[in-house]
Amino acid sequence: MKTPLYFHEDYGNYSFGRFHPFDATRFSKYVERVKDIDEMISNIKIFESPLATDEELELVHSKEYIEKVYKMEEVDGNLTPDTPVKKKSPDAGRRIVGGSLEAARHIDDDTIINLGGLHHSGRDYGEGFCIFNDVAIAAQHLLDEERKVCVFDTDAHQGNGTMDVFYDESNLLFVSTHQDPSTLYPGEGYIDQIGREAGKGYSVNIPMPRDSTISDYHYAIEEVAKPVVDQFSPDVVIRNGGSDPLQSDTLTDLALDLRGMEYLGKTAREMAEESGAGHIDLMLSGYGPQVVEGWLWMTKGALDLNVDLQIDRKLGEIGKEPKKDLEKDMEELQDILSSYWDF
Ligand SMILES: [Zn+2]
Repeated sequence: MKTPLYFHEDYGNYSFGRFHPFDATRFSKYVERVKDIDEMISNIKIFESPLATDEELELVHSKEYIEKVYKMEEVDGNLTPDTPVKKKSPDAGRRIVGGSLEAARHIDDDTIINLGGLHHSGRDYGEGFCIFNDVAIAAQHLLDEERKVCVFDTDAHQGNGTMDVFYDESNLLFVSTHQDPSTLYPGEGYIDQIGREAGKGYSVNIPMPRDSTISDYHYAIEEVAKPVVDQFSPDVVIRNGGSDPLQSDTLTDLALDLRGMEYLGKTAREMAEESGAGHIDLMLSGYGPQVVEGWLWMTKGALDLNVDLQIDRKLGEIGKEPKKDLEKDMEELQDILSSYWDF
């Protein structure tokens, strides 16, 4: 069966203005590339994302917050200085939510893709280029259907909004690999942030040192992420995060290359396969010259496609020793989590 990919041309209205680092042409550029590559389009079927309803947004967000967003749209307001609310962007955000929800509604034991991942928005706030949190809304829908959900957030920035929404939830496991929060927005996601009350042990934060390579990611994922996800045994794995862990990214300081993107997509698929879970893959972020290329390599990994994406550079391989700081942090994190999970 072909993999569903949710998209709508209105995603292109998810824009913060001409001088903002988020380039909204990414969505259509990616879809055009997918259509151009035979091995991809023969395995992917594109569906139009519906517009999420108010009731659906309210799975996570408060009525007051939704109203506030639409009032800001009228007056050209800002949620935060880096997150202005431009004309048509709240509805574009709603469309992205619709795509992620549609993926959640159609989930079986295979992969479904949406161009989403607005993980910095919480119940009553939006920030970090995120208005409505499609990851959390799709996850809440699945929780309401009594599915156990693992959110595997591989964005370079930690998913503070998603973590916040589910911080005391034990049917959702939040696992995040992100750049060391002492060096990057949102400044959350330290190893001792493990959840609250019933949710203790169900938030797993894996801070990656600056310049982390595929070998560092592989080490951290094998040591911490995979054993925890295996033991949790989710019904659905939602991976979110786009191209911003790439070395070429202009907002971050990590050092993955395109093979690293493929590895992240592949890892999420394997996590889902090992638990017999469905897999939703959400790509949205990236700032720099390789945003769409990074998404294509992630797609290749997520769908296990035998596709030759031409590149004239040598790509990194797993196998180098991990950074010493990372080794120390992962030992400490295993220690902190050892009351909840076996390592
Ligand atoms: Zn990001």
